[in-house]
Amino acid sequence: QEAGKAPLAQPSGHPPFDVNAVRRDFPILQERVNGKQLVWFDNAATTHKPQAVIDRISYFYAHENSNIHRAAHELAARATDAYEGARNKVARFIGAGSSEEIIFVRGTTEAINLIAKTWGVQNVHEGDEIVVSNLEHHANIVPWQQLAAQTGAKLRVIPVDDSGQILLDEARKIITDKVKIVAVTQVSNALGTVTPIKELVAMAHSVGAKALVDGAQSVSHMRVNVQALDADFFVFSGHKIFGPTGIGAVYAKRDILEHMPPWQGGGNMIADVTFERTVYQPPPNRFEAGTGNIADAVGLGAALDYVDRIGIENIGRYEHDLLEYATHGLKTIPGIRLIGTAADKASVASFVLKGYTTEEVGKALNREGIAVRTGHHCAQPILRRFGVETTVRPSLAFYNTCEEVDRMVSVVYRLATANR
Ligand code: PLP
Repeated sequence: QEAGKAPLAQPSGHPPFDVNAVRRDFPILQERVNGKQLVWFDNAATTHKPQAVIDRISYFYAHENSNIHRAAHELAARATDAYEGARNKVARFIGAGSSEEIIFVRGTTEAINLIAKTWGVQNVHEGDEIVVSNLEHHANIVPWQQLAAQTGAKLRVIPVDDSGQILLDEARKIITDKVKIVAVTQVSNALGTVTPIKELVAMAHSVGAKALVDGAQSVSHMRVNVQALDADFFVFSGHKIFGPTGIGAVYAKRDILEHMPPWQGGGNMIADVTFERTVYQPPPNRFEAGTGNIADAVGLGAALDYVDRIGIENIGRYEHDLLEYATHGLKTIPGIRLIGTAADKASVASFVLKGYTTEEVGKALNREGIAVRTGHHCAQPILRRFGVETTVRPSLAFYNTCEEVDRMVSVVYRLATANR
């Protein structure tokens, strides 16, 4: 076994799908960067789009484009059918009981803000507590901090162990009957940790609190069933699951949505308006003021169809092996420190390299056509928990291969062993 080369036998002689065929579905993977074929290891930031998604959006604008719900003409009917069809696909994909429990938003950030600024303002008061974990993305910290400042509630944080896994015993101490909501990610974007989300949801419920699951990094890697999780809220972004940017979803249990006040006011979300008062639509329309991102919702539906055709379980299995392969390869590099070593991880292999800034490592990889994120990944508290401000963060998807991992490992190995 050659140093600096990934040391394992290539994972699974029988991948659960044809990776080369999958790669041909993603036109951008043929791009060349600095004279080399692009390697896209920045999937936790955003994923690429298969031709089926690109074509679906193009078809929408060529044949269906209209505003929805408002007009009685043919194209309005086509656009409405396509948009509501996409809502059905989202509901089915995450195991919701009904498409009426799905609200389209711009993405995870807007989703969490919507919940904090509607349900939160209605239900969280002075002296109450809001619980997040040390792993959270800023999008699942800042809206709760704002809510706490506005209401006089307190934000509490579940700590993690040295592998980056949530400490359930600590969670049990923190989740008391003062807590109104527990908002935790299912997969950490900075470390890749898969959290014990089901246990945390159950803990929240045992004290009468609600549970919000941030699914931004989980939906593209594992089967999610919001009913099996018993999540009160589940949120994700389309662009992280091979769909377009600018579209994402909130799932919330129907009885919660029915009592939640609207967020933005305007067209689409009303049943009747006079200058004296407004009667709102029932959910989900009550939460979708104005003209939404219709074409991209339809594109998201196509992305979920694409994932369904390959099978999310197959994707999860393949990526699990690929992440192990990458982790073993990276561990052969002198001076490397992996940040986040939990037993259960998905997609992400964060690291720092002795003698180099993370930016230098990222630039060296970019010179070879390999895209990784370097920086704080919008998750500063968890990086600081490990004594670093930034990491190099390769993050894998099911269109990545062992050969691409080898290319990355050998570039970092060369850096690590170069005489400087
Ligand atoms: N939550 C997690 C765990 C994330 O990884 C991200 C994006 O990186 C977000 C929330 C925010 O998602 P978006 O930028 O799509 O709103």
